[in-house]
Amino acid sequence: MSNTDKIHDVIIIGGGPASLMAAFYCGTGGMKPMILEALDFLGGQPAALYPEKPVYDVPGIIECTGQELANKLIEQVMQIEPLVEYNQSVDEMKHVDGVWHLCCKSKKTFKSKTVIVATGKGAFSPIKLGAPGEDEYLGKGLSYTVKSLADFKGQDVLLVGGGDSAMDWTCTLKDLAKRVTLIHRRDGFKAHIGAVNLVKALGQAGEIDFLIPYEIRKIEGAGKVEKVTVFNNQTNEEKSFPVQSIIICAGFKPTVDALKKWGLELNEKGLIKTHEICKTNLPGIFAIGDATEYVGKRHLIVMEFGEAASSAGAVSTYVYGKGKGGAEWWAGPKKKDKEAVTA
Ligand SMILES: Cc1cc2nc3c(=O)[nH]c(=O)nc-3n(C[C@H](O)[C@H](O)[C@H](O)COP(=O)(O)OP(=O)(O)OC[C@H]3O[C@@H](n4cnc5c(N)ncnc54)[C@H](O)[C@@H]3O)c2cc1C
Repeated sequence: MSNTDKIHDVIIIGGGPASLMAAFYCGTGGMKPMILEALDFLGGQPAALYPEKPVYDVPGIIECTGQELANKLIEQVMQIEPLVEYNQSVDEMKHVDGVWHLCCKSKKTFKSKTVIVATGKGAFSPIKLGAPGEDEYLGKGLSYTVKSLADFKGQDVLLVGGGDSAMDWTCTLKDLAKRVTLIHRRDGFKAHIGAVNLVKALGQAGEIDFLIPYEIRKIEGAGKVEKVTVFNNQTNEEKSFPVQSIIICAGFKPTVDALKKWGLELNEKGLIKTHEICKTNLPGIFAIGDATEYVGKRHLIVMEFGEAASSAGAVSTYVYGKGKGGAEWWAGPKKKDKEAVTA
């Protein structure tokens, strides 16, 4: 049965830290959670907004970057094998005969007995440049994220941006791709100074082409990216060269419009009012993480982990009734596998 045909026990909207831990706790309680994420990757704000920023306040981890934290959470949740649907931005929610229908912008509808809303600051989408041909060539050589490094092997790659992602991908791809060109529209960078200096040094050594202040003028190709024309936004001088891949690293922006349509009780800041055990005003809908507020709430990951555990317990009680499900004890998949082997 497909993910859209099935009535799930629990669907979690959003794939940030709160969602990942909620899914983990749902899994440890014997459920098969489904995560719907607007982007094509998990991790929420740490992965999308501050992948390189150090994080010092997650229990048990003295220091890590946002991306490292996201990677650890993803690794942890994958142990319980959740169902994950990417590029699914939930737009509408309808309650039909006791089942929640979650209608996504992709036109897909998913059904569930319970929903955990973990939408954080809102559905992230990539910031577009508004460059000519950007929409036309999206998915045909033009992308906003790197899904698989192998896709760029032996290619002429154009990277666009002045943030950490642009710098990191430049360094990562330079040895794999045939040639990497990085363009940035101004001589100022959001990226860490160390990363900028490294990329500048690569440019000076001739290992990459680094063009400032350049923007895209034209993308050409028969059904896929084949050639790009860039221009100096001060002198208007143009350069054209062959490329098979364009990666735009301009960041991500959140939109919270959908949340307002779902009938959830919101406070004056537009955050979901939650009651004990993450309950909202709607039956079977629980809310956690940055999307919520209550007295004493702090918008910190450590707090969201606690809410994640509470919501999983609440969902279990809602679906199975008191005393069933729940995450009282869990051996962990590795230990379970070991036991199965030695049994
Ligand atoms: C710059 C910065 C630095 C920070 N540093 C720290 C720190 O050091 N320590 C700390 O504890 N906290 C920090 N925070 C706060 C922390 O990142 C957030 O509290 C946390 O990410 C919230 O997690 P979340 O899962 O609730 O939401 P998010 O991380 O916002 O994730 C929500 C996810 O839901 C998706 N989504 C939203 N709407 C929909 C929809 N309709 N359909 C499908 N998907 C949807 C989004 O695309 C996103 O991936 C920082 C925040 C920022 C901005």
